[in-house]
Amino acid sequence: NSLLPSLELLSPVLCQANDVDEQMEKLVQLFGFSESEERLRELVISLMQEVFSEFFPECKIIPFGSSVNSFNIHCCDLDLFLDLEHTKIFQAKSKSSNEQTGVIEDTQSEDSILSDIDLETASEAEVLELVAMVLRKCVPGVHKVQAVTTARRPVVKFIHKDSGLHGDISVNNRLAVRNTSFLKLCSALDKRLRPLVYAVRYWAKQKHLAGQSSGRGPTLNNYNREIPVIPSVNHLKELAGEDDQCIIEGWDCSFPSDASTLPSSKNCESLCTLLSEFFNFYGQFDFVSSVICLRDGKALPVTAFLSNKEGKSPRLGPLNILDPFELCHNVAANLNERSEQRFQKQCLEAAKYCRSLQYQRKSAKGKIWGLVRLFKEDSVSAEGSPGVPGEVSQERMVIDIPFKLASLSEETRKKLCNSDDFRQLWFGWVSVAVLSVLEDMLKCTYEVLDGKNPPEVNSNESDTTASTAGESLNSGKRHRCSDEGSSSCKKLRFEPENMAGNASWYCTLWHKVWVGRRKMRRDILRGLKAPRTDDDGGDIDLETRVSEAVAQQERAAGNTSEPLLNFTLHLEVVGGTESTRTLAVIAPVQDASGLFQDFFHFLQLFIPKMTEKVLEKKIK
Ligand code: ATP
Ligand code: MG
Repeated sequence: NSLLPSLELLSPVLCQANDVDEQMEKLVQLFGFSESEERLRELVISLMQEVFSEFFPECKIIPFGSSVNSFNIHCCDLDLFLDLEHTKIFQAKSKSSNEQTGVIEDTQSEDSILSDIDLETASEAEVLELVAMVLRKCVPGVHKVQAVTTARRPVVKFIHKDSGLHGDISVNNRLAVRNTSFLKLCSALDKRLRPLVYAVRYWAKQKHLAGQSSGRGPTLNNYNREIPVIPSVNHLKELAGEDDQCIIEGWDCSFPSDASTLPSSKNCESLCTLLSEFFNFYGQFDFVSSVICLRDGKALPVTAFLSNKEGKSPRLGPLNILDPFELCHNVAANLNERSEQRFQKQCLEAAKYCRSLQYQRKSAKGKIWGLVRLFKEDSVSAEGSPGVPGEVSQERMVIDIPFKLASLSEETRKKLCNSDDFRQLWFGWVSVAVLSVLEDMLKCTYEVLDGKNPPEVNSNESDTTASTAGESLNSGKRHRCSDEGSSSCKKLRFEPENMAGNASWYCTLWHKVWVGRRKMRRDILRGLKAPRTDDDGGDIDLETRVSEAVAQQERAAGNTSEPLLNFTLHLEVVGGTESTRTLAVIAPVQDASGLFQDFFHFLQLFIPKMTEKVLEKKIK
């Protein structure tokens, strides 16, 4: 997964597409194998086949997994199954004929590898050690060979130097081989499946839900997929012909081999909708009491598995997805509660985004849209665990501040929205209000940025330079405006002609104003004789006092003088018709303690709410 192109590289290509469906089709073209990559894999496979045939007569090397299941991605691993069934028969036969004739055939001679092992009785680990030896000693250009015999599905890992391919060989994995044919059939059944799977896989990688575990808990392997437009496995079993009957390790793996003989799906939703429905489904899914069962094509109650007497029951966990064939195997059994919660949270966020126009329609202004925003990586984990110290995150977060005032009638509101002059004026007011929320209510400091770019932060200086209000910083372009006496800033704030419809600030956060806020608020209210109401603007005053109290508490605890976070704030008025709104784009510049995510979640509610209050108060 780490070999997939970065979003930066993808972004221009995807943004050029005309709609989300086209973006998804592009993913398949961009991620999938080229012809030469396919050819290269075939060559490595035939090399293996040739060498292994020498040592294990009549064996068969069968590729499975993403190299051949139609969901290939550049540089994905090469999963190989070494089928020794015929070799076993061969060994048994030659053994008995040797016993009869007394002639020692080549395969049973001292230097034959088969003389070292009886395939009928050998353990899987013993066979794999032998496979590892063949790989090490006899396959040209192979290195880093390692037998991993303790895994659920034991393998021998290797790297093929010339092609750079990483490979796994297993000797006991027929279910996975069958599963590969199943996925291939699904792809052939409906051409929407590939683009959908590629999109969900990339999304899961970007959100750290799949692939290599990254300190955020176990991740989904890419096998955990719900396939919406495909018949249930039971239905496919009914459609299977006589030749398609297949039982592996006691599990019924029958399904038709030829997709062209099957009826096509009645579902005709677009890719764009299907993807968004995927997120809706899992965003609201009741993971606690349900098991996702591809066999039946639906979720089953967990209780049905608790009392399963026949055969083995799956190992249930916070997220339960049954293997389509091996019905006692929960393919998501490795996940813990935290991973399940992260998955659901990401699905909810994705579902919300998919409802926006930004997802559904190409931006006329050349902004990122569709899949590109969906794929934005979370550089700070959702649980607020610290980011890499000093790392500058690429994140930008947007807060929507619609033009609405409780005291305005809907008619007047619409009229005002349609006036260019008013929009300009409105933007000036909102800017002032947002800055006062940050400064007065949240105790942040800020400076005006003349250009749109955030200042280049010198990591040594940034932590301390911003500490004294009114100080001139290393760039002459920036003005500190934290104290009310700074007239140049006031002028810039209030004169509409200075507000071209967008402006940027460089801000510093000094206190964790969101932590313990509710309790602090309660304590303050308790101390006040008469509880204040929203009507007299008391909220603004109260929120200011709460932040002051939080700051006070932090100072008392001795942690004050260092800035916690630097971020840029870019305000821009958009809309122009009845839906005039100001967007606040907030991006971290310096986030040494990984606080941005938490701070942003707090701001998301706080800024629109308090900005409206400040404006109401001003207008009164
Ligand atoms: P990629 O290698 O690109 O990540 P893949 O599909 O090849 O994708 P692998 O982890 O290499 O995934 O596994 C190879 C195959 O083994 C899968 O395609 C699947 O058929 C089977 N498999 C892997 N993990 C599981 C699992 N947890 N449960 C059931 N089958 C699995
Ligand atoms: Mg693989």
